[in-house]
Amino acid sequence: MPDCKEAFVTLATTDSYCMGATVVARSLRRHRTARSLVVMVTLNVSQQSRLALEGLFDEVIVVDVMDSEDHLHLALLRRPELGVTFTKIHCWTLIQYRKCVFLDADTLVLCNVDELFERDELSAAPDPGWPDCFNTGVFVFRPSLHTHGRLLDHALQHGSFDGGDQGLLNSFFSSWSVDDIGKHLPFVYNLSATSIYSYLPAFQQFGHNAKIVHFLGAVKPWHSSSQRDHSSSHAMEQFVRLWWNEYLSHTTSAGPGKQPNQDEEKPR
Ligand code: UDP
Ligand code: MN
Repeated sequence: MPDCKEAFVTLATTDSYCMGATVVARSLRRHRTARSLVVMVTLNVSQQSRLALEGLFDEVIVVDVMDSEDHLHLALLRRPELGVTFTKIHCWTLIQYRKCVFLDADTLVLCNVDELFERDELSAAPDPGWPDCFNTGVFVFRPSLHTHGRLLDHALQHGSFDGGDQGLLNSFFSSWSVDDIGKHLPFVYNLSATSIYSYLPAFQQFGHNAKIVHFLGAVKPWHSSSQRDHSSSHAMEQFVRLWWNEYLSHTTSAGPGKQPNQDEEKPR
């Protein structure tokens, strides 16, 4: 039985990101998570995509930031550029759950990562571009309307230094880099695909420990063809291939009771 008090949460505001959310759910189920799976979608996501997600997630929550509480509406009117950010921090309103792990829709889970729920808010892995900042593709949080309100206030007053959720969350949880090493997730929980190029020897040494791959950046796996690069031995292309295998797998609609059993080789 899934632990109803704890959930993995992702977000998709377009049909393309729904493809990513599909892979998040399938890869979590493949590795037999015991937690609930939640996806937040916006109204512009097609009904077809939404129905597909309903077959994979325990909860599909439709969020319409414009129709939400006044405070949120006001925040969005004053800072329209933060639209997707506000949608993401909506995850703090999921107070039916005691603790959650947020996963970007462009992540791929490679093994069971339920141990993440042993961590406290706000736990995250360093950002490869500026390691004193955490990357917001994978983070542990505790839903709370109080925290949600404070995040909105913070966004209204200070905006986001990078225009997205990562700038906002890093200035809100500003002591992350120095406070508590227990809140620093090992990099293998948010292995950005770009790091394979930027520090290849480290990837060769530690890459086999990868637990969650994050296709951070402008080019997402769903932008590339599933047919391309199959013969390539490059690790990055192998992760993209793994992503497509997960996306195209048809065995996972059985739900948590019946799990697929296709053990995948991790790229090295
Ligand atoms: N997202 C979305 N629609 C968008 C942009 C982003 O639903 O148009 C969500 C999605 O969950 C995505 C996350 O916000 O994974 C963060 O955006 P993205 O992964 O593109 O940023 P990156 O990790 O490349 O910085
Ligand atoms: Mn991402």
